[in-house]
Amino acid sequence: MKKTIPFNQAQIENITKTYPTPFHIYDEQAIRDNARRLNQAFSWAPEFKEYFAVKAAPNPHLMQILKEEGIGADCSSLAELILAEKIGLHDEEIMFTSNETPIEEYAKAKEMGAIFNLDDISHIEYIDQKIGLPQTICFRYNPGNSRVGNDIIGTPEEAKYGMTKEQMIEAYRMMKAKGATKFGIHTMIISNELNREFFVETAKMMFSLIQEISTEVGIEFSFVNFGGGIGIPYRPEDEPVDLEALGQEVKALYEEMIIKKGLRPLKICLECGRMITGPYGYLVTKALHHKDTYKHYIGVDASMADLMRPGMYGAYHHLTVLGKENEPATMTYDIVGSLCENCDKFAVDRNLPPIEAGDYLVIHDTGAHGHAMGFNYNGKLRSAELLLQSDGSVRLIRRAETLNDLFATLDFTPFLKKPSI
Ligand SMILES: *Cc1c(COP(=O)(O)O)cnc(C)c1O
Repeated sequence: MKKTIPFNQAQIENITKTYPTPFHIYDEQAIRDNARRLNQAFSWAPEFKEYFAVKAAPNPHLMQILKEEGIGADCSSLAELILAEKIGLHDEEIMFTSNETPIEEYAKAKEMGAIFNLDDISHIEYIDQKIGLPQTICFRYNPGNSRVGNDIIGTPEEAKYGMTKEQMIEAYRMMKAKGATKFGIHTMIISNELNREFFVETAKMMFSLIQEISTEVGIEFSFVNFGGGIGIPYRPEDEPVDLEALGQEVKALYEEMIIKKGLRPLKICLECGRMITGPYGYLVTKALHHKDTYKHYIGVDASMADLMRPGMYGAYHHLTVLGKENEPATMTYDIVGSLCENCDKFAVDRNLPPIEAGDYLVIHDTGAHGHAMGFNYNGKLRSAELLLQSDGSVRLIRRAETLNDLFATLDFTPFLKKPSI
């Protein structure tokens, strides 16, 4: 898929007069259009709800846009629950899919009426004894060696998440005995996957599990959550998942395996993060230095602290040199940040047009797991986040960190000079 950007050089030069680089900038209209496409693809379902995996882009301004498009929040920590609360999400608009969860977090989730999606059977007693169980309950399934995962998430058998089938059956039995009135079921076994067959396969697996557990335990399911994991086309040669086709293929299975079997109609849920915001965020950075040794380097004012994926996973992020979109890529560069870590590279051996100090570089697809994975190693300050609004104006949705933010947890008073007498 051709990589494009929703702004030009003049706009960026104008923005940098107010907000210096580096910054992440998000395209509001594209986020809205994409959310509508997803909702449309599953509009056949009796009810459909996407729960945005907050960890991908934990910014309330982005979550608010998604809320306006009917999207809820998938939270996995106290901070994420509080973000959801701040924008007014409550009750079944929030899925609490955590693991190794402290009781304080369950207590907050309970106070907010969020759906409890338990990662393990042992959490039933843990919650029951400490704060009491909710009426609605969901469990996370791990299919073990009956399914293969992909590179990012690993094989299900090696994954720390979810429960075996035997545990699932026992867990629903326990909850039925304890008086639960509403049941859901969840799985998440894939990440950044572009082959939609994987998701169709997951739907089939879950519908079959619903048949089995409904009969075995004597309960009716109200909702199924297929998790997230829909990939995005990071590379120009990648194609996005065809959401309409995916929706139709899941629909066919739903009719065959749920409706024709006389099971209760289900609400269909997803909890995607990456595909919701990923393609609609861009890290804008400025070239500072040009260095020639055994290779050609361009040093930029962003670092791995602003975008960890290339350094951490060797992930590809497309790169555009603003104003040189149509110039031939006659140079081969490593594009690097200033961390004292050799993996601090946004691109390695990338063919690009000749870059000069002062050029703006746009790193694509940073809208998920970009700013969110930022850190302060080497004293790096996390960048600002900007929103390119649907009317073309730009709004600051998170300011850049300052040195005062960085040092806020330190007490410097022992080092203050004593006043001389
Ligand atoms: C990370 C995560 C998601 C979102 O995954 P994406 O690949 O961003 O779609 C959904 N559910 C759970 C439980 C997660 O941990």
